[in-house]
Amino acid sequence: TSERKKRPDWLRVKLPVGPEYKKVRTIVDTNKLHTICESGNCPNMGECWGEGTATFMILGNVCTRSCSFCAVATGRPNEYDVDEPRRVAEAIKTMGVKHAVITSVNRDELKDRGAEIWHQTVVLTKELSPSTTIETLIPDTKSNWEALERMISAGQEVVSHNVETVARLYRAVRPQAKFERSLEQIRRTKDFGKRTKSGIMLGLGETQDEMFRAMDDLVAHGLDILTLGQYLQPTKMHHEVIEWIHPDTFAMYREEGLKRGLKYVESGPLVRSSYHSERHVNVPI
Ligand code: SF4
Ligand code: SF4
Repeated sequence: TSERKKRPDWLRVKLPVGPEYKKVRTIVDTNKLHTICESGNCPNMGECWGEGTATFMILGNVCTRSCSFCAVATGRPNEYDVDEPRRVAEAIKTMGVKHAVITSVNRDELKDRGAEIWHQTVVLTKELSPSTTIETLIPDTKSNWEALERMISAGQEVVSHNVETVARLYRAVRPQAKFERSLEQIRRTKDFGKRTKSGIMLGLGETQDEMFRAMDDLVAHGLDILTLGQYLQPTKMHHEVIEWIHPDTFAMYREEGLKRGLKYVESGPLVRSSYHSERHVNVPI
């Protein structure tokens, strides 16, 4: 696409090849699993899969929401697969991963927002791989705090929930979400005693002042870890890239974030929520 041609050099990545990559491919396929690496056309697949790590996406691959940056299909999901937690847990065991990242689509149509499947997935993964650490990148529970508690009370080390962008851009970027509601979800996750993490994509038209304000809001709501990366447009139908953020600017945001009270900031053009996420397990709560 023309967007790809315009991409600055610092966004060029290695193509996925090699035996580890193929092994992950086989395990994902034979267990009929979905990964956000593929659904999100992640540029780091060569690196992550080559190291034997992947981010599993549970609760199907059709989402009730239509965020304008996201390549996951929108629709009415019919999948509610009670066997999915077992297959995810077994895939993680077979892959022998030391740190697993699990995420899901939004299931707004379900009363429990998918919390039971979430809970079982983490419990079974811990059962089959007791020394594997887990990050759960959870959806917006739409103020269903009972569902939130069920999702985060299965022994995972890190609970992330991405605010994705600054408050002003929510209508264009995350139309079914609210910045304030996501902040409250993060605060409640912190109050529950979990290590909290969130992510923002840059290049959607946010200003630097808006970024600083977002960081302050996140710190005020108990956020520990923040990831910042360049937004890439998955198809022409998705939100345009407004700006290519320079690596030096990412470095500046990292310093600012730490100054403002975040405990850990992962910031760079290719950073994704799940990138290097094994490093976040040891951040003090
Ligand atoms: Fe998958 Fe995350 Fe790695 Fe991308 S950064 S390939 S989504 S694990
Ligand atoms: Fe994509 Fe998540 Fe938005 Fe669904 S809620 S469209 S999976 S970003």
